[in-house]
Amino acid sequence: MITFAGAALDRAAVERRRAEWLAERRADPRARALLMSERGIWLDGGHLLLAAPSEAAVFLGLADERPLFADDVSGAEPGQGRPAGLREAATELPPEEAALAAYAGSLLAWHRRHRFCANCGAPTEARDAGHERHCPACDAHHFPRTDPVVIVRVTDVEDRLLLGRQARWPAGRFSLLAGYVEPGETLEEAVRREVAEESGVELGRVSYIASQPWPFPSSLMLGFSALAVGGDPKPGDDELAEVRWFERDEVERAARGEGNLALAPPYSIARRLIDAWLAGA
Ligand SMILES: [Zn+2]
Repeated sequence: MITFAGAALDRAAVERRRAEWLAERRADPRARALLMSERGIWLDGGHLLLAAPSEAAVFLGLADERPLFADDVSGAEPGQGRPAGLREAATELPPEEAALAAYAGSLLAWHRRHRFCANCGAPTEARDAGHERHCPACDAHHFPRTDPVVIVRVTDVEDRLLLGRQARWPAGRFSLLAGYVEPGETLEEAVRREVAEESGVELGRVSYIASQPWPFPSSLMLGFSALAVGGDPKPGDDELAEVRWFERDEVERAARGEGNLALAPPYSIARRLIDAWLAGA
């Protein structure tokens, strides 16, 4: 299962637009809200800390008909539990709860950053149970954004893996090349451009593998594999300090926690793509 995905939730995208339906869900004694503040998602005893939803809570969906909301408690943090970053939550929570935390985290971060209209600057109001903001001054509708990022597992005919290290990362930490999709690009074009810019390596076939919501704050990682057909890897832009080929046995040792090479954490799609390559998938 992909970390940050797979919450067993009916988002009730049609029903949630009706104010009356939403008020009933909010008043349901079974209704619960996840709590987030600027310090993170609130946990208690290895699970999400839940409370009755406030009037301002955004609606996440129905879990076995139980209404689930998310509340921003930045101004009034709860008296129990503790806040955790989403990376920490990903390793501490059961997978379904980590997925809910990612969903709520992205949605609430969007509300915090879009209190004013990008078109005219007037204050905006939440609509559609928290899945839209509306500007009463110019009638603009604003929707939660998701930023697409391509991440690519590049191998060559000698069965080596291309990994890069960002300058700010600790020595030995390497990962797959990745970058934001730009306006006017297909995903495959973004993959080819990013790899060419960051390493100078030219790609042949590019294939989609899987995706992962990446709530830092609201990216969608789109995982690809690609075969290199030319170019010697060297850092081409300012993003990478090092980029080179790694032999399979070196990556295998790193996956076992041996040697100097440190791979991305297990909950990341980067690591899943690497592990799948090691497994021959
Ligand atoms: Zn406006």
